[in-house]
Amino acid sequence: MQGGRLLLRINDMLDSQLHGEPRAVLTPKGYRWYQTGHPWIYRGDLAPPLDEFHSRLVRVEDGRERFLGRAFYSLTSRISLRFVTFEDVPVDREFWRARLRAAIAYRKKVVEHSTAMRLVAGEADGCPGLIVDRYGDFLVVQSLSAGMERLFDDILSLLVEELSPRGIVVRNDLQVRVLEGLPRGTRLAHGEDPGELELEEHGIRYLADPMRGQKTGAFLDQRENRAAAGRYARGRCLDAFSYHGSFALHMAPRADDVTVVEISSDAIGRAERNAILNGFSNISFVEANAFDFLRSMDVSGERFDTVVLDPPAFARSRQDLEGALRGYKEINLRALKILAPGGTLITSSCSYHVSEAQLLALVSEAAGDVRRSVRIVEKRMQSRDHPVLLTMPETHYLKSLILQAD
Ligand code: SAH
Repeated sequence: MQGGRLLLRINDMLDSQLHGEPRAVLTPKGYRWYQTGHPWIYRGDLAPPLDEFHSRLVRVEDGRERFLGRAFYSLTSRISLRFVTFEDVPVDREFWRARLRAAIAYRKKVVEHSTAMRLVAGEADGCPGLIVDRYGDFLVVQSLSAGMERLFDDILSLLVEELSPRGIVVRNDLQVRVLEGLPRGTRLAHGEDPGELELEEHGIRYLADPMRGQKTGAFLDQRENRAAAGRYARGRCLDAFSYHGSFALHMAPRADDVTVVEISSDAIGRAERNAILNGFSNISFVEANAFDFLRSMDVSGERFDTVVLDPPAFARSRQDLEGALRGYKEINLRALKILAPGGTLITSSCSYHVSEAQLLALVSEAAGDVRRSVRIVEKRMQSRDHPVLLTMPETHYLKSLILQAD
């Protein structure tokens, strides 16, 4: 594998010397899109196709041979180019080292009281398709673009040099890899398997399993919202779509009791161990479909003072949008019905395709349906270690609202 990659890169170098750097030329429409600063170029915005350069770094030009940047090229994806830089600088090992160092330095500024965090968030850190999460002394890495895959061994060795992790897990099991023509799989790339390891987040301890858990082991993007939920929690609390008890653990210290609802039995099992780890005895665990659970609470007239809804992305593509909006509306409607007077609803959507305005509109409709007046207490988003790139709306995927009902 390593030898093969090396050969590939030597071939790239020889090829570039013989034929010059591979070039991609934008159409006039592509150029107008480029001027918005978005780091992706779609297939239709490329003048002649570049079939033979799949996964290579290419020099991007306008129709007059002016340099526009360097980008990863993908033949298979609808996203043909992913810009790596808009500057005319060599993209070599030291370039990537500098990118990784900048990403790590940013987290040192914005992440507090947490031993797990996202260190590199793809395009938002100038590393198209690269995800690096830190879990204590371990790293979990994903490569989601053909161009990044080609460099992957170099990136892993840079991470070892920069961070000396005890182990690196590669979670390349995401469906999006298929769009880039890449195989899916999980492997240990360096050091030890972290197993189920203990982490800390704003004074709460929890176990996560990077090799076998969902995503890279935990939903790090909700970290700051979980801490916020801890501040609002009171009385009888419900954490629906809880994963391994994540919001519940933060609410338990202030709550009378917390009910965890989650469909995955693995996640529920770890939620129970997480409660024990923190010495909480006021959490109960229900393995169920949250849609059914919310309906049954409504029917039986149960009431909660604090409700958290954190469902998986219902809209994975634009085609799913309509059904997704119905799903979000349904759970938010049920949540408002079972919310006690003066109660707090903390509701999220992690679908990029559902905008904050759409989330607000559907919750507002639900409030109208149940004739309750509801105040927006806070509008929130993903934690700051998952930065939103201003020129790339796709990076703002998680929307959270903290609402108070009369
Ligand atoms: N709140 C969690 C993240 C939740 S992700 C955190 O902060 O860590 C969404 C969770 O919903 C996943 O754990 C998934 O297993 C669960 N899930 C998916 N569909 C569900 C359903 N219909 N009912 C209950 N749980 C569901």
